[in-house]
Amino acid sequence: MPAAPLVVQKFGGSSLADADRIRRVARRIARERAAGSDLVVVVSAMGDTTDELLGLAAAITETPDERELDMLLATGEHQSATLLSMALHALGVGAISLSGPQAGITTDGRYGRARIASIDPARVRTEVEAGKVVIVAGFQGRAGSGDAHAADITTLGRGGSDTTAVALAARLDADRCQIFTDVRGIYTADPRLVADARQLSVIGYEEMLELAHQGAQVMQTRAVELGWVNGVVIEVLSSFEDAPGTLIKEDPLVEQRNKVRGLAHDRNVAKVTIVAVPDRPGIARSLFDPLAEAGVNVDMIVQNVGHGGETDMSFTVPQAELGKAKKTLESVVRELGAREMTTDASVAKVSIVGAGLHNAPGYAARMFGTLADAGVNIEMISTSEVRITCMIAEDALETALRALHDAFELERPESAAVEAGSGVAAGAAATATRESASR
Ligand code: ADP
Ligand code: ASP
Ligand code: MG
Repeated sequence: MPAAPLVVQKFGGSSLADADRIRRVARRIARERAAGSDLVVVVSAMGDTTDELLGLAAAITETPDERELDMLLATGEHQSATLLSMALHALGVGAISLSGPQAGITTDGRYGRARIASIDPARVRTEVEAGKVVIVAGFQGRAGSGDAHAADITTLGRGGSDTTAVALAARLDADRCQIFTDVRGIYTADPRLVADARQLSVIGYEEMLELAHQGAQVMQTRAVELGWVNGVVIEVLSSFEDAPGTLIKEDPLVEQRNKVRGLAHDRNVAKVTIVAVPDRPGIARSLFDPLAEAGVNVDMIVQNVGHGGETDMSFTVPQAELGKAKKTLESVVRELGAREMTTDASVAKVSIVGAGLHNAPGYAARMFGTLADAGVNIEMISTSEVRITCMIAEDALETALRALHDAFELERPESAAVEAGSGVAAGAAATATRESASR
C-alpha cells in the first residue's frame, strides 16, 4: 500500500479566534484526514492572545524579563493546540497536541527572536504512525544544550508559527505545506486597504520575501526564506472558504509580465533625525555602532548636504525599537555636539516590489510621479534590486497605496498585462528615456 501523503497545515490566530472557529478548523482537518492524508497541524495563539499577553506583561512592568516573557507567550499556543486537539477528539479523530519542545524543535537561545537550529522529528513521526493528527504549538522551541539558556523555552518572533510550519514541512519532507489564514492568499496589496487588490495564483520566493520584509504580514519573512532554501512549495489559503489559494514557489515567468508584482506597506516604523551634527568623518559610525550594539535595526538612512560644517542625519527604526534607539543615542548626541534629536512615529513605508525592477529604470520615476500627483510628500527613499521604498506620512498611506495600485495597473489580470506587452512596461520605458536620473 503506498504511504499516505503527509500534509503540514498551519492555522493563524484569526482562524482559531474562538471555540466555534476552533471547531470549524477541526472539521476541516477531519475532512482532510478522512480523504487519507497524514496530518501535522501547526497553530498560532487564539485571536489576539499574544498581544493580550504582551499587554499584561506591560501592565506589570515596563521592562519584562525576556525569559519570563517567552514562557508567558508560549502559553498562547499551548492553549490553542490543546483545544484543537480536544475538538478533534470530539469528532472522533485521533489527535495529540505537542509543545514546540515536545515536537523536537531546538533553537538558539535568543529569547523573543530565536532561530530554529534543528528539529528531531522522532516524536512527531511516532504519533503520525500511530494514526494521530499531530497538533504542534507554533512560534516556540527550546534552546539547545550548547546554549547559555539551554532547555529554556524560546519564541521565534511575531508571526513565528509560519516558520514552525515551513520548518516542519522541510524536516518531515511533507508532500504539502498549507498556511491557512483570513484572506484567500497573497494579493497585489493588502486587500484590507486596497479594494482592487488582486489575488495572485503564484508568487516567487524572492518577491514574497521582499513583500514580507517590507511589511506584508501575511507570511513571516523567515518562513519564506526557509521555504526558498529547502524548496518547500508553500500554499497560502483561506480557512473560512474553499477557494484556490496562492502558491509560493520558484517562479520562472518573471521576465514576461508586469515587473511590479505587488505593494507592501509598513506602519511600524519611526523616523529619527539628528539635527545639526558636525559634518566630519566618523560621525555615521559614532551613531550607528552603538545602535547596532543595542540590537536596534536601522533601515533607511539619509544624510543631507552639509551647510556651514553641519548636517542633518535621518534614519528609520521599527517603532517598537524607538525607545531603545533614543536611550542609546542621547549621550552620543551630546558628545558629538549635535543640536538635538527629533523623532516621528507617524510615518509609514510604502514599497513597490518585483523581481524585474532592477533593469527597468522607469519604475522609480513612475512611483515618485504617482505619489506627487496624489499629493503625497516623500520623506525618504531607498531601493534594492527588487523594490523601491518611500517613507511618507502615515495618514497618507491609503491614498498612496491606491494611487500606486492604479498607476502600476496591478488590478489587471496577469495574462492581460503580458499580452499587452506593455501597459506599464512600455510606458515606463518611455518615461525612462525622458527622465534619465530616475534611480
Ligand atoms: P494569521 O493570523 O493567519 O497569521 P496574519 O494577520 O498574520 O494572519 O496575516 C494575514 C493578513 O495579512 C491579512 O488579513 C491581510 O490584511 C494582511 N496582508 C498584508 N499584505 C497582504 C498581501 N499582500 N496579501 C494578503 N494579505 C496581506
Ligand atoms: N502568536 C504569535 C504572534 O501573534 C505567532 C503567530 O501568530 O504566528 O505573533
Ligand atoms: Mg501571521
